[in-house]
Amino acid sequence: MFSKILIANRGEIALRVLRACKELGIQTVAVHSTADQNAMHVRLADESVCVGPPPSRDSYLNIHQIVAACEITGADAVHPGYGFLSENAKFAEILEAHGLTFIGPTSEHIRIMGDKITAKKTAEALGIPVVPGSDGEVTDEVDAARIAAEIGYPVLIKATAGGGGRGMKVARTAAELSEAMSTARTEAGAAFGNDSVYLEKYLGKPRHIEIQVLGDGEGNAIHLGERDCSLQRRHQKVWEEANSPALNADARARIGSICAEAMAKLKYRGAGTVEFLYENGEFYFIEMNTRLQVEHPITEAITGIDLVHEQIRVASGGGLSVRQEDVRFSGHAIECRINAEDPRTFVPSPGQVTHYHTPGGLGVRVDSAVYQGYSIPPYYDSLIGKLIVHGRTRVECMMRLKRALDEFVVDGIKTTIPLFRELLDNPDIANGEYDIHWLESFLRENS
Ligand code: ADP
Repeated sequence: MFSKILIANRGEIALRVLRACKELGIQTVAVHSTADQNAMHVRLADESVCVGPPPSRDSYLNIHQIVAACEITGADAVHPGYGFLSENAKFAEILEAHGLTFIGPTSEHIRIMGDKITAKKTAEALGIPVVPGSDGEVTDEVDAARIAAEIGYPVLIKATAGGGGRGMKVARTAAELSEAMSTARTEAGAAFGNDSVYLEKYLGKPRHIEIQVLGDGEGNAIHLGERDCSLQRRHQKVWEEANSPALNADARARIGSICAEAMAKLKYRGAGTVEFLYENGEFYFIEMNTRLQVEHPITEAITGIDLVHEQIRVASGGGLSVRQEDVRFSGHAIECRINAEDPRTFVPSPGQVTHYHTPGGLGVRVDSAVYQGYSIPPYYDSLIGKLIVHGRTRVECMMRLKRALDEFVVDGIKTTIPLFRELLDNPDIANGEYDIHWLESFLRENS
């Protein structure tokens, strides 16, 4: 086991990792920018190192400073959290070259999954169902028209280097194809410095369903069921639940074992998420995230398995603590992302939190690095906390969520809490009937 882990992140996820380290008796090192010197993760860590000025590229993304911080403090491993350097293959390689362990998959697996075309081809070769589309990059408009006619309109043009929903354009008819392709190319070129695109069938009303996997890197892998993350705004997840209201136990077991077997074949190491669109009973792979996800606590709630413990165990060569047959799903969990944002316009609302009170009681978990008097800096992501509620049934979970939201006090800034209260009153949400476009239409209709 490691003796000291450096946590290359901030906010709630830095705290989340720190808690797992403490439970495992591992010393912790926090890194922080000058804007974060009073942050909770710095206060709770055993040691801390300032790695640069506020902008992320100069601090949390500054590989040289982070490696130097490991050397100064004698850390033997790095947990990257999510975002920042968590899916940076070069970072993983540099750490290994310095004799440090990257708590995550191999740099090769990060690279494969970071390129959408390679990821899709790999998934397909491993037996994972994918969205029908072009076999790799499409450069020529005549080819594009032929492929689009084959798969059928509407089609989606996607950037190979895509992320955050950028460089994506729908063509509803053959007449729209040429313009959609050139717009997607221009956007992708500007956003990623790579204008390569590919074609996919556009699914009209899918749900976003993702499978949590864990691998030991030696050919053993398990799945921990799914999360339904269909409630999104601008491709950003807002509310997640496990299990999905749309899946039954058979469908769960089927897609879960496909993913676990694929990860075993790949010799995948650590935690990962295989993301699908789900429509008319069929799963379509869209991408794989080779890291811990923001919404991992709902999986922890229904399985009782600590995902960060497992990540650390596997990285240290200790293998997984659970086998597939030990995994039991119990009850229902929902996560609400509490963002420092206007609940309607989603404009960020940084500033000082003048009053802060978190809900508690049975089945309620709050992962947050906020405290009373804390000033939310304007430089980083606006996620300031996550409310995770667990109940024996979905109905119990929603009742508990309602009362937990009523107890939650965050004064001085705007947050997304009022939006969740509205959602809980909505019959579609009560019935679990929503797809990936539901939230955007709800916001349009109720603005
Ligand atoms: P990114 O990495 O840019 O977020 P993804 O491939 O994960 O790209 O897709 C982001 C979102 O775009 C999905 O969650 C879904 O809402 C939508 N999307 C992606 N592919 C399709 C598709 N083939 N049909 C319909 N919607 C899609």
